[in-house]
Amino acid sequence: MSEIHKFLFNGLPVRGCVVRLTDAWVEILRRRASGNSQAAYAEPVQNLLGEMVAAAVLMQSNIKFNGALVLQIMGDGPVKLAVVEVQPDLAFRATATVLGEVAQDSRMSQLVNVNNLGKCAITLDPKSRFPGQQAYQGVVPLFGDRHEKLERLSDVLEHYMLQSEQLDTTLVLAADGRVAAGLLIQRLPLEGVNNLAGSVVSQANEDEIGVNEHYQRIAILASSLKRDELLNLDVETILRRLFWEEQLTLFSPAPGDAAPRFACSCSRERVGRMILGLVLQEANSILAERPEIEVGCEFCGVHYRFDPIDVTHLFKTGAGLQA
Ligand SMILES: [Zn+2]
Repeated sequence: MSEIHKFLFNGLPVRGCVVRLTDAWVEILRRRASGNSQAAYAEPVQNLLGEMVAAAVLMQSNIKFNGALVLQIMGDGPVKLAVVEVQPDLAFRATATVLGEVAQDSRMSQLVNVNNLGKCAITLDPKSRFPGQQAYQGVVPLFGDRHEKLERLSDVLEHYMLQSEQLDTTLVLAADGRVAAGLLIQRLPLEGVNNLAGSVVSQANEDEIGVNEHYQRIAILASSLKRDELLNLDVETILRRLFWEEQLTLFSPAPGDAAPRFACSCSRERVGRMILGLVLQEANSILAERPEIEVGCEFCGVHYRFDPIDVTHLFKTGAGLQA
């Protein structure tokens, strides 16, 4: 079963979260492999997308935000786009668009950052928006301070967290065809006595970046976690091996807490609305060439089919609704 556990280091300004996605991750790969229009992911693509899924679930569970978190890589190599979307209840979906050959031993830069033009975007899309409100989006490049190509997704995201949240974060990510897993360690922002003293608090927080000795020690321990261990050990064993000298409180999920799971938010109704975006003439010209309009969901592989009777009905009732 897929699972997620949060923990705190007693008395220290450091928190952590570990996620292991098994059934939910395998379901995404199975749907992709059984789709008739797209081929199964090459191993390096699969592993990158799995790391993105683990990271996005960690990030969503770590923020107090009522909306979808979308982690995207817009690549300039064979992987043009990789997208993971995680809902507040940790339901998630993921897909990658691959054009061209992927070598078996491709590194991240060979997949998405051939010309150093790849980008990573994190979008927070609130569930209910007031008029004019935009989704929040942060974008970071896939290179480091000296424009060197980064080869680990965790380095890209640590950069992002430091830039956008002013928070020291350590991420360890790993994925294969069975498991997508991740460990996140984060320094807690300093708490102010007075919420109005925002500037004072953030100055104190900035002074702590990269220097808090407890965080530094725990971050080094976390970074020693090997890919093999993260993929194969259970959560308690991982935490015991890494932090046996630390005082740690592991929170077990409350009975009502949802576990991370695969779910796609596509629907026939949404696809219908998309078809209504065409004018009737366009819809009819598609139907002149083939028996139905078929729209496949890239995330879950479901195909929605609308024959001429469906389309006529759609434009009648849809037009009625819009009037
Ligand atoms: Zn879908």
